Amino acid sequence: MPYELPPLPYAYDALEPHYDEQTVRLHHDKHHNGYVTGLNAAEAKLAAARESGDMGAVKALSQLLAFHGSGHILHTIFWTNMKANGGGAPSGDLAAQIATDFGSFDAFLAQFKAATTSVEGSGWGLLVWNRLTGKLEILQALNHQHSSQWGSVPVLAVDVWEHAYYLKYQNRRADWVNTFFDHLVNWDDVAERFAAAK
Ligand code: MN
Repeated sequence: MPYELPPLPYAYDALEPHYDEQTVRLHHDKHHNGYVTGLNAAEAKLAAARESGDMGAVKALSQLLAFHGSGHILHTIFWTNMKANGGGAPSGDLAAQIATDFGSFDAFLAQFKAATTSVEGSGWGLLVWNRLTGKLEILQALNHQHSSQWGSVPVLAVDVWEHAYYLKYQNRRADWVNTFFDHLVNWDDVAERFAAAK
């Protein structure tokens, strides 16, 4: 069954002025949709390869599956990780686990912002629950799929591809990341994802 682009959980202009309507529209309707289309194409070609027994293209198709599948998954998380009038700090079990694994929320935030801002080229800052180690970890995903870690379930995904911020923030990636935490992050959604993963 083909994957579909999930609708935004808010209007295109709901995150103004911190996340502008034009960027949200392009990012969701063009970029995220491109990963959904690419994922479906890769899966269809892999199904055809299994049908025909011709595995000649399986290396390239496996890489396309990882790229587009990871892109679709991370964007789906990213949209729900934001809300109008977001920001603040987490509470409850998520806050306790952050304190356990990073020392304090401030220490977590400093590491997360540094990791996210310093992604080389296109990628993501991720907070993941690792089911195999029983810990929260901060990762950098290069493109969508590289430098990930086995066992990890992303619960917070901050997009630092230039398409995510360049129209409004130009080269000021750190301003975008700071704005994400000051005005956009939806800690309730992160906490729900953490509870489900744990
Ligand atoms: Mn993106």
